Amino acid sequence: MTDKLLRRQFLGYAGALACSGVGSPKLLGQARPVPATDLLIVNGKIHTMDPVNRIVPQALIQNGRFIAVGDNVSVPPGVRRVDVGGRTVIPGIIDAHDHIVLVGNRPGWSTPLEHVFTIPDAIAALKTRSTAVPAGEFITAIGPISAMQFAERRLPTLTELDAIDRPVYLQAAQGGTRTNSLGKTWLEARGVTVAADGAIAGPALTAALLALRKELLTPETRKRSAMDALQYYAKLGITTHRDCGAFHSEARSGGLANENTYTMHNPFLALHAEGTMPARLRIDFLHQDSPTANPPLPTLSQRLRNSFPFFGDDWIKTGGIGEFTGGGVEGLRAIAKAGWRGEDHALNLNGVTNLVKDRETVNAEIPLNGLRWIISHIPEFPEDLANRMDAMGMGVLVGWGPLRAPTPTNSSLGPPYRMLMNHRIKKGYHSDGGDITVINPWLNFFTMATGLNLAGQSILGDQKLTRQEVLWLATAANKWFLREDDLGSIETGNHGDLVVLDRDCFTVSDEDFKRTRSLLTIVGGKVVHNDGVF
Ligand SMILES: [Zn+2]
Repeated sequence: MTDKLLRRQFLGYAGALACSGVGSPKLLGQARPVPATDLLIVNGKIHTMDPVNRIVPQALIQNGRFIAVGDNVSVPPGVRRVDVGGRTVIPGIIDAHDHIVLVGNRPGWSTPLEHVFTIPDAIAALKTRSTAVPAGEFITAIGPISAMQFAERRLPTLTELDAIDRPVYLQAAQGGTRTNSLGKTWLEARGVTVAADGAIAGPALTAALLALRKELLTPETRKRSAMDALQYYAKLGITTHRDCGAFHSEARSGGLANENTYTMHNPFLALHAEGTMPARLRIDFLHQDSPTANPPLPTLSQRLRNSFPFFGDDWIKTGGIGEFTGGGVEGLRAIAKAGWRGEDHALNLNGVTNLVKDRETVNAEIPLNGLRWIISHIPEFPEDLANRMDAMGMGVLVGWGPLRAPTPTNSSLGPPYRMLMNHRIKKGYHSDGGDITVINPWLNFFTMATGLNLAGQSILGDQKLTRQEVLWLATAANKWFLREDDLGSIETGNHGDLVVLDRDCFTVSDEDFKRTRSLLTIVGGKVVHNDGVF
């Protein structure tokens, strides 16, 4: 590899400033070195995801945007050349609906573990983490871990977790909660019941998370967790998250999906103020007003009156209302009248049928076309509903699958990916991860492309996709859901977001596909993750 990138250039704005000599009197009067934002990727297998799916060797990024994409790109003087050695490059992955803000507000030294597939590897990852954690402080994975991802199909036990000499608390998206002896002592001192094997269940679970939140959360620890979460997923290739909110709790809560929805964005706003965001964040506002509330729509009406939709900058921007609109048809009417986007999720056929009917009611009064309304998850979704949503200019978000288990009578759990792919309705990828499922895109992509959950059980029937289709859903197709045409594909003029992968995700075996990760992640020309290869 010629022209190796220096490590210190991967430190975001701070690194870029250090490199350019800002604030360093020694360098005053000298020519300003090339900022880290100007890069020419060469010798890549760059899957552009442009309208004709070009695969090209070179992409030039200047001032945060792609300036030239193709072959024989001329190199302006002084631009850094990065030879990626024939590796596969994709646009930055967009997760168009997840709960990264919840993950970024976890107590303790939050340590997502979605990239390891055996318990010994999980223990090794926690041990590595412990070297950065002061003695006595908690290492936690709350949400971004599942029993099903491990070959052992369970979480580590107390004895296994005792290999880490810090208190450990693992609360899986699916599959239980575990602590080690140090954690058990701490929790028991606060009245939380912990089983001999470190398991915590029932009411003790709420008490445990509440105690951790009450004693460990500060603005500083939240900011650390927010940074760690964004960086973790940047290592897996995600460059844009669209956050779809939390259940609102004014006070600290023991609920996995609960947070104060009016203050939970603060750690991310703090990172943004420092100029250190390693990924883009799009924020939707979740509302749950009761349809019978009096006065009506107590929170939604204030939101629509006092906030701005799609307002912000390239790093953080607001969106619409979701993933719950609340307030029934009256809520939908208010959102439509205000000209905002609305999103609800559907968990079954009855639910999604009612959501579509309600939207048709509102659409007859206030045309929804152009507002890009969304229904997400849609495990059961017949073609008739796709036709009706498409007629109203709406789209669907799909993914949300790798932890689902077949029942004795049903191994075709949906969503109907193949039907959707052949349908003209707008569709995009989302994980919905952070509390009830995983965010790691490759675990989700694995299920979408193989039809298997993480335990290897068939769950999609004949509704699988090709890897090209999966990657397209998670990149170019998501432009529509962000309402940003300059993300999601490597094309001249677009934001310079790309990922150099550690393997060719289009040709490796299914097992290797699941283990894909990024060697180099670039967001708007900023190198936000570098494995040290370049
Ligand atoms: Zn969600």
